[in-house]
Amino acid sequence: MRIGVVSVQGAFPEHISSSVQAMRRMGVEGEAVPVRRSKDLEGVDALIIPGGESTTIAKLLWRFHLSQRLLEMAEEGVPIMGTCAGLVLLAKEGDDQVQKTETRLLGLMDMAVDRNAFGRQRESFEAELEIDGLDKPFPAVFIRAPVITRVWGGCRILSRYQGSIVMARQENLLALSFHPELSHDTRIHEMLVSMARR
Ligand code: GLN
Repeated sequence: MRIGVVSVQGAFPEHISSSVQAMRRMGVEGEAVPVRRSKDLEGVDALIIPGGESTTIAKLLWRFHLSQRLLEMAEEGVPIMGTCAGLVLLAKEGDDQVQKTETRLLGLMDMAVDRNAFGRQRESFEAELEIDGLDKPFPAVFIRAPVITRVWGGCRILSRYQGSIVMARQENLLALSFHPELSHDTRIHEMLVSMARR
């Protein structure tokens, strides 16, 4: 299996090591590779869009022509996980900040987001999160985290924190407000690996 990690800006190195660890724990042979150009997407079975600055990542995704291929892959059913800024990019609807900065979203998931919802309150924090499909809480690290303000259509809520939606899934797409690559717990990356195995 090959897991691609979009590596144009932001928290990508940790995603590479968490992905490798998740595959190892599951006994799946594979590798995790950085994705910078669209040719890096060849042969990728699952993709991660990391946290960082959603405005910057969006700009680079379009500039390096990664978006076009990425949208096709989503359509083909390749599992894609967006964390934090990556969650913002997966959404169909952004808040006024997304509009003001003219951030071009990928628009793949039936959800609306507030880009800096938690950032306005506290810069970062950790919380034990109940997540649908996991038997024990997940130690989630939030950094200037966005939230999902609304879901519709095929988008399913997987977790809330203090009432706000912080994780959702729509078929092959997974969106998280937090940074699973910063926990030692690899269960979220394992989720992505099992989605790719189907
Ligand atoms: N709120 C930031 C943004 O949307 C994301 C922060 C993060 O990825 N840690 O740009």
